[in-house]
Amino acid sequence: MALPDLPPRSDTQLGDLDPEELRRHGHAAVDWIADYLAGIESRRVLPEVAPGALIAQVPSSPPSQPEALERILADVDALVMPGITHWQSPGFFAYFASTASVPGILGEMLTAALSVNAMLWRTSPAATELEQVAVDWLRQMLGLPAPLFGVINDTASSSTLYALAAARESIPGAHIRRDGLSGRADLARLRYYASEEAHSSVEKAGIVLGTGTQGLRRIAVDDALRMDSEALAEAIREDRANGWLPFAVVATAGTTSTASVDPVPAIAAISEREGLWLHVDAAYGGAAATVPELRAVLDGCERADSLVVNPHKWLFTPMDCSVLYTRRQAGLRNAFSLVPDYLTTATDGEPSVTNLMDYGTSLGRRFRALKLWMVLRAFGTEGIAARIREHVRVARQLASSVEATPGWELLAPASLSVVCMRAHPSSVDDEAALDDLNARIIDAVNARGRFFISHTKVRGRYAIRVAVNGVRTEERHVRALWEEMRGVADSTAPAP
Ligand SMILES: *Cc1c(COP(=O)(O)O)cnc(C)c1O
Repeated sequence: MALPDLPPRSDTQLGDLDPEELRRHGHAAVDWIADYLAGIESRRVLPEVAPGALIAQVPSSPPSQPEALERILADVDALVMPGITHWQSPGFFAYFASTASVPGILGEMLTAALSVNAMLWRTSPAATELEQVAVDWLRQMLGLPAPLFGVINDTASSSTLYALAAARESIPGAHIRRDGLSGRADLARLRYYASEEAHSSVEKAGIVLGTGTQGLRRIAVDDALRMDSEALAEAIREDRANGWLPFAVVATAGTTSTASVDPVPAIAAISEREGLWLHVDAAYGGAAATVPELRAVLDGCERADSLVVNPHKWLFTPMDCSVLYTRRQAGLRNAFSLVPDYLTTATDGEPSVTNLMDYGTSLGRRFRALKLWMVLRAFGTEGIAARIREHVRVARQLASSVEATPGWELLAPASLSVVCMRAHPSSVDDEAALDDLNARIIDAVNARGRFFISHTKVRGRYAIRVAVNGVRTEERHVRALWEEMRGVADSTAPAP
């Protein structure tokens, strides 16, 4: 295409806004953030908005002329805030809260200001090295032995995908990154294993990796919803006999539904015997290992080939921040390193230089280490452990209250800081009626606005699930939630 002639330069102002504008509005924005956090408890956790509410209120096309920051920021209050779900609220007990602590927020601000791309050591030496420092500090806090390579990704879904890609590339003689999977008569169908309770990201990885979702074989769980390691060994044996090629096992330390912890030592023994890559999904649960008394949550993980833990889940670091550890640094690099001419640098090959783009699909990488490093420093190892210990204590207390209350029952053993329960009035036996009753209790609690709780299924039963992991959540919030749940249950009649 021939490039067209352009009109002469216009007199529209060019370049960025003046840094003085940042000073003025930045101070106001920081005040806004401090006020937001100070007043967070007075907000409804779930917004009262209908689908499409925001879209209906904003112009359908961008402004042709510049708008003043005052107006834009005012619209954040007027248009955006009414539709925000307050993940920062101490009343957020759904899913796993991703709470941003003050040092984490400051870290994000500075990361935005620097806007460095930590793809190569050269493109930001300090960002690369601080990432190595922060993940090694966290390794020590988790009680994992050195040396252990770590890299920060956006999410556990990416970390698990990369770990399984490394596992796939480690299959002897398969050379899948070079030869692919399609049309290969020389290669049996690939299989990997995870429990019935494993996170959907483990299955999603199979969509990308070419194993298909059929490549994941789900292993049965025991009474406490932990992977049955004998069933794992049997499944591998059966698959080999039927011509499959097993290559990896994913164990979960802290499942999403109930926080159950798979027996990693037994799974590691099987993986070692079978020559399979062992990846541990500790996205949520890994953080508990920062508490010395809870370190057993990662028992056996020193034998894993890779492990993921999300600081954005239970380590008070703002979205997004997921750490992938591996004892097989070269294995991960072999899966992903691909360096075109324009990305070669003079320091390539120096042992002290790590180019973090070599460990995943993304070239561009945010400077996520800064916020993590700031959080770890601002709280210290003891401060982090104290917060997590308290969450676990309060969750156990809630579980005891549930057990002691007629008309209520636990649906899974309380583990870490997750409690799965349901109301079960003595007058109701029908499972479908109980599912319906508990769904209505959740809806009623959420509609009141003080709390946000979500559900899961435990062995097919509808469970109210409460996860206590927000940085601002205290015992009093959990007590108030329990009171509200009981009150709501008393006024929610079971379906006739
Ligand atoms: C939340 C969660 C994930 C997914 O985490 P993302 O960072 O959102 O991808 C994976 N595994 C477990 C066990 C989780 O609880």
